[in-house]
Amino acid sequence: MIFRPGTAVWVEHPDLAWAEAEVVSTAPTRSSAPSTITVVLLSNGAKVVADGRKVLPRDTEADLCGVDDMTKLIYLHEPGVLCNLARRYTLNEIYTYTGRILIAVNPFAKLPHLYDMHMMEQYKAMVGENCSQSILVSGESGAGKTETTKLIMRYLTFVGGRATGNIRSVEQQVLESNPLLEAFGNARTVRNDNSSRFGKFVQIQFDKSGRISGAAVRTYLLERSRVVQISESERNYHCFYQLCASGQDADKYKLAHPRNFNYLNQSHTFELQGVSDAEEYLKTRRAMDIVGICFADQEATFRVVAAILHLGNIEFSPGEEFDSSAIKDEKCRFHLQMAADLLMVDASLLLSTLCFRKIKTPEGNIIKAVDNSSAVIGRDALAKTVYARLFDWLVDNINKSIGQDIESRAQIGVLDIYGFECFKYNSFVFWFFFLGISDGPPLFSFEQLCINFANEKLQQHFNKKPIGIVSLLDEACMLGKSTHETFATKLFQNLRTHPRLEKPKLSKTDFAISHFAGKACPVTYQTELFLEKNRDYIIAEHQNLLSSSKCSFISCLFPSQQNDPLKSSYKFSSVASRFKGVLEAIRISLAGYPTRKTYSEFNDRFGLLVPEHVDERPYYESDYISQLGRTKVFLRAGQIAVLDSRRAEI
Ligand code: ATP
Ligand code: MG
Repeated sequence: MIFRPGTAVWVEHPDLAWAEAEVVSTAPTRSSAPSTITVVLLSNGAKVVADGRKVLPRDTEADLCGVDDMTKLIYLHEPGVLCNLARRYTLNEIYTYTGRILIAVNPFAKLPHLYDMHMMEQYKAMVGENCSQSILVSGESGAGKTETTKLIMRYLTFVGGRATGNIRSVEQQVLESNPLLEAFGNARTVRNDNSSRFGKFVQIQFDKSGRISGAAVRTYLLERSRVVQISESERNYHCFYQLCASGQDADKYKLAHPRNFNYLNQSHTFELQGVSDAEEYLKTRRAMDIVGICFADQEATFRVVAAILHLGNIEFSPGEEFDSSAIKDEKCRFHLQMAADLLMVDASLLLSTLCFRKIKTPEGNIIKAVDNSSAVIGRDALAKTVYARLFDWLVDNINKSIGQDIESRAQIGVLDIYGFECFKYNSFVFWFFFLGISDGPPLFSFEQLCINFANEKLQQHFNKKPIGIVSLLDEACMLGKSTHETFATKLFQNLRTHPRLEKPKLSKTDFAISHFAGKACPVTYQTELFLEKNRDYIIAEHQNLLSSSKCSFISCLFPSQQNDPLKSSYKFSSVASRFKGVLEAIRISLAGYPTRKTYSEFNDRFGLLVPEHVDERPYYESDYISQLGRTKVFLRAGQIAVLDSRRAEI
């Protein structure tokens, strides 16, 4: 693009991201694009030499209050969008359209006037399309997805509510499913005190008269590893702290301050600013009441939560025999007994489940002792499985009690998906603290791959042929002999030439992906636990132990398998491909032609470019304008700037 002296432009700036400037001169080069442009910054009059490829045109006629829809911007590029959002933000206008997409900028402050009855009444008048729709809430961690999802749900239950005042009405149950799921599926991370560690899709069903008649909640990929491992400044799931702060209930389960439990004291953060865990516990119990979880099931739920904390305190020391393990001391024996009592299983069976493994041999099954580090891994696997089953049970229960309306005429789906994760200090870079290595690129795990993969799809930057990582992983999981090394080898063999995949120099089994073309640096993943995490299986001994529980709530979480559970130690079901299902369910149609101009606006600005003025193909039919509507011309992103530069050439 050619810039003449005096042209208003944006240039990259190390502190501000983008700065307003004016072109002074362009350095002529042999190639058609100038390599450098000298500009003067409007803020301080300094002259700066900028890379010609990073200079963008600036609209000098833009409204200082900003525009409520980005498609009204003359230049739809990063500085144009950011400047518009910033102008609106200073006026507390946190919402801006981009065609059918609504951008929200997190205010981190209550703006009640945006969501009050008066405002909701105004939007109510807009109801009337009578067809199913989906709303996808996307953004990085802490951006405000969950809060936005809740505002949307509050609005929908307001317009579709029956105003009966019934505390157990469908709409109240839909709303109260939020605090309940947050208690069990949200946690403090370095980015967000209330970070969702699962994906959620809520479908609200409406009857003929437009009233809410049912709802369904689906959740995806709860971060199980958090139950047993947390990094500094983060917390485990809120429910653990709530129960510890619950007074009588905590006493009943022999719980104490979180610092006493291995699953909570790995980080030294126990409290959340401005939040009382004791009060939150009562809110969770109230949400359980409203959602329709009976008292006995509520008690059982928290008994399981307490059991997990005691389970985490069972430690092992090397056993008398080589490579065997034994319970460490009397204190650990107390926690073993507590965990067993709360799960209503036999304490010695629980201990042998952790310290021994049944192995199939051609001569029959043999019992083998495991060393103490394997016993810890087994203990943690048990805790994660129990917690994940409990979470799934809560979701099932919410669905059962709200009830589905199978005859529903129309529904609105709201998807609250995780944000893109590539931050250095997140829960998965625990290793760096642990090993004392502070620099070098962070390494990421399986969960991040799923999250980033989903987001990449959502951002529609995924305009490349399917990368095939998920299918290669599924294949590796189905072949009994695969290891993460063979998976990594296969990955590089199959996708050797893929421009977005890189093999880090220092590791044979890590791989790096550039998720977003150009901008972001590659994200490096460690494959060590990929196979294990993708296989959603339960260890046969754990299954046997828990299905033997005398508590029907717990044994129902682990229904006995039809086949001999020892025959196949797991039933293969790929987590990653189920997540890919998530993706298919989301059909986002990003506007392909974001810039819209009426014919008269377009003619005023680009009339000059009609065929008699140029000797090339007519622009009206070229790639610049891909759609001509009844009243408007639709352009692909960035094409206005190209047309402007053509205009400047004439
Ligand atoms: P994660 O991916 O970690 O779950 P998220 O995008 O769901 O993050 P939220 O938990 O919704 O983020 O928001 C983080 C915080 O930002 C909230 O706890 C709240 O303080 C603030 N916030 C978000 N949206 C709003 C809003 N509309 N008004 C006021 N504050 C908000
Ligand atoms: Mg969230």
